[in-house]
Amino acid sequence: MTDRRIRVRFAPSPTGPLHIGGVRTALYNYLFARHHGGTFILRIEDTDQARYVGGAEDYIMDSLEWAGIKVDEGVREGGPFAPYRQSDRKEIYHRYADELINRGDAYYAFDKAEELDRLRQEHESRGETFNYGCTTRMNMCNSLTLDQEAVKQRISTGEHYVVRYRMPDNEDIHFSDLIRGDIVVNTSTLDDKVLYKSDGMPTYHLANIVDDHLMEISHVIRGEEWLPSLPLHVMLYRSFGWEAPLFSHLPLLLKPTGKGKLSKRDGDKMGFPVFPLYWPYGETASGYREEGYFPEAFVNMLALLGWNPGTEQEIFTMDELIAAFTIERVGKSGSRFDPEKAKWFNTKYFQMKSNEELADLFMPIVKEKGFSPDASTLVKIISLVKERTGFVKELWHEADFFFVAPETYDPDVVRKRWNADSSLQMRELREVVAGVQPFTSEILEKTVKEWIVSGPYNTGTILNLFRLLLVGASRGPHLFDIAGLIGREETLRRIDDGISRLSS
Ligand code: GLU
Repeated sequence: MTDRRIRVRFAPSPTGPLHIGGVRTALYNYLFARHHGGTFILRIEDTDQARYVGGAEDYIMDSLEWAGIKVDEGVREGGPFAPYRQSDRKEIYHRYADELINRGDAYYAFDKAEELDRLRQEHESRGETFNYGCTTRMNMCNSLTLDQEAVKQRISTGEHYVVRYRMPDNEDIHFSDLIRGDIVVNTSTLDDKVLYKSDGMPTYHLANIVDDHLMEISHVIRGEEWLPSLPLHVMLYRSFGWEAPLFSHLPLLLKPTGKGKLSKRDGDKMGFPVFPLYWPYGETASGYREEGYFPEAFVNMLALLGWNPGTEQEIFTMDELIAAFTIERVGKSGSRFDPEKAKWFNTKYFQMKSNEELADLFMPIVKEKGFSPDASTLVKIISLVKERTGFVKELWHEADFFFVAPETYDPDVVRKRWNADSSLQMRELREVVAGVQPFTSEILEKTVKEWIVSGPYNTGTILNLFRLLLVGASRGPHLFDIAGLIGREETLRRIDDGISRLSS
């Protein structure tokens, strides 16, 4: 297969917010397509009307856009194989269902839901499972057991029917998966799946195969949960006489404990999102975007959950991922999701950004708090606090004292540091600070430290108290940098306010 013909698709069903496992599937498809100079298609599989959730389709597209996963052909983009939403392709599937019936590989079934339920329950009570397939189909109400006239009659009077695939009896089917290797399944273990319903809607299996064929998909890269459907899909390709695409089933994303599939509940319990964006409908859910993750960091983290570059490199730009990505390096076993590692990635990207970039991102937050510093002041502030966090939204917490004087003082620090001598010490410090010329961080530091060592006071005591008065707590970057930045007047005011509040 030449590179030019590589066409892959991400084919989500709009049944709710897109799980990060789904974003990873989209990402691997995208990386694979770009690596080979191929095409990445987004197809919306919305034939299951009962599970359709409004807003989910836009959510999927917005999520990919945020993550920087660019769709070449899709609902929004259009393309030579439009439409890309299955409900808009409804007319297409009917004739393929007919074709299978005509070939004898599918049949009409008229069994009522109640009858099927009854059979299921009856089997269950015996500890068995009811399968509509080679051992049962000849006892059921379908076009294999009814005569042709009766079938015609039922269809023409509008009786509800489904079209089922007629799985051959006791045949080994061989196929392969690029990640899992060769697989053999005996058809007797498979049931006769419903492909089409008389309401004019295909099921996932038929629509998926027909569209992958019509859209000339070369590689199907999807989650492991679709592996059980693969034998049926392989059979459908065979029945139609079409060349099947190459398949790759990606390993699951596992809970942080390593056991079982990562779920929303894990995220809720441990306080991390399992969705890319905030989900605003019904049971709302948090998203990586709103939690303050950079899309580049999010994508980098996801890329390494299931794929490895074969080197120690962990930080990859999208272009580097595209260059390095191959299916051969996708593992077979599930990847444990680690929320701390997600934070680690974001912190790395945060630290890699320039002070100017971070200041630009921080400015709207500062403005919202009611302050309008000039850009260069903000850049300076960033340079002082950058190392203390990995998230823009935590910057305010690290830097609020540059803008707001303390009104209260951490009681633990007060208890530990403020005593009968403190007022006098701070009044003397005030005089020293008032005389510093020019008022810069360096000169202030030099002057204050010289004053301390030349007198009776302990350096730690004085500096801890000074910090308490400037910040209200024992946190923050280099003390003299804080004073230098807020300036002499503000420094003196905070010392005065602190003395009067704490000594009263
Ligand atoms: N519509 C299926 C899903 O929701 C697509 C599976 C596939 O890629 O074939 O994931």
